[in-house]
Amino acid sequence: MLFLLVSAVAGQSVDIAPTVVLVSLDGFRWDYLDRAKTPTLNRIAARGVRAERLISVFPTKTFTAHYSIATGLYPESHGIVANTMYDPLFDAWFRLSDREAVGDGRWWEGEPIWVTAEKQGQKTAPYFWPGSEAEITGVRPSFWEPFDGNVRNAERIDQVLSWLDLPNAERPTFVTLYFEDVDTGAHDHDPEGSAGVNAAIAAVDSAVALLLDGLERRSLEDDVDLIIVSDHGMAQTSANRVIFIDDFVDLDVAKVIDWSPVLQLRPADSLVEGVYRSLVGAHPHLAVYRREEIPQRLHYRSHRRIAPIVGIADEGWTITSRGWYGIRPQPEIGGAHGYDPASPSMGGVLLAAGPSFAVGVEARPVQSIHLYSLFCHILGLEPSPNEGTLDSVRVMLRR
Ligand code: AMP
Ligand code: ZN
Ligand code: ZN
Repeated sequence: MLFLLVSAVAGQSVDIAPTVVLVSLDGFRWDYLDRAKTPTLNRIAARGVRAERLISVFPTKTFTAHYSIATGLYPESHGIVANTMYDPLFDAWFRLSDREAVGDGRWWEGEPIWVTAEKQGQKTAPYFWPGSEAEITGVRPSFWEPFDGNVRNAERIDQVLSWLDLPNAERPTFVTLYFEDVDTGAHDHDPEGSAGVNAAIAAVDSAVALLLDGLERRSLEDDVDLIIVSDHGMAQTSANRVIFIDDFVDLDVAKVIDWSPVLQLRPADSLVEGVYRSLVGAHPHLAVYRREEIPQRLHYRSHRRIAPIVGIADEGWTITSRGWYGIRPQPEIGGAHGYDPASPSMGGVLLAAGPSFAVGVEARPVQSIHLYSLFCHILGLEPSPNEGTLDSVRVMLRR
């Protein structure tokens, strides 16, 4: 085998090709590492690398961000421009809860790392990773499962360990895990430090501890590269920070595709300019753009699924309508994401430990689009065209 690695740690000899175990902790904000009890995550940081934070892509949502990590592309390039979108060419909607859309490869552009690896002869297991349920450019991962939030964390870990137990020829070299506890906890409670969020942080730290135990039992802990990321952070929302869009435009005319904190409006072509004029400057905490005028640094213009008018709420503000609010009022305090990735509150975590990584290094903030290059480097893969660079993450690597 080409990439044989022999470890003599603890008197064991483990033959395993370079392997990445990528763990996503949805909504885990970078500063939770220092503000809550995370003994396992801190232990990983101590034996590897910790970036100050992982800078996500715009919009800082679960699907946009996870698929940028997987492809090294901005959403305008990979086509997953929101969790909820409308494609004018397909005349079709995409929603997280729509299994058929989520599993339909035509939505997923670019090349995720598992496709790169499978095309080059490796096996992969992107378990519950957004995009993993679809055949992309004719390729499926060797192992995947339809997303099911009811599968307990311990079961997810057992599944991943059993894949790592496969004989060399069948064992995947790229495996992922996904834990949504912190995202859920921080939406429902105060993300600035409530009992609810702290419990969720403790739960995912324990889940990672279970994973480490499993790797240690197999003497794999020093032979696989463990990378812990999150897709975005979380900002505190309030019942006092709400923007009612129907105060400014007729919702029947404006045609709302997605709501908050990134508003997407797709009026009939002849009405776009009128709707834009009604909204621009209408609310002091809502920036409104024609698609082609969205700030360049957000890399959010070129895809047809981005609506002609985009509104971006200031951090901590929620966009809704009077009708909807009547049925589902904003909780007094809650959490949300989707805001400008430059905002520190939208930063996620990045920790990495294993044979490829430096030990005890604290790196500056890293942008998530560079991780695809990192995965390719570790796995010895020729990268597909992407918008990241290996140089941006080289500081993390062992010399
Ligand atoms: P959001 O906070 O709206 O960006 O989305 C977070 C939610 O997305 C999680 O609570 C999950 O229920 C859901 N989710 C995460 N991964 C997947 C997936 N692969 N397929 C469908 N839904 C998912
Ligand atoms: Zn998320
Ligand atoms: Zn969320």
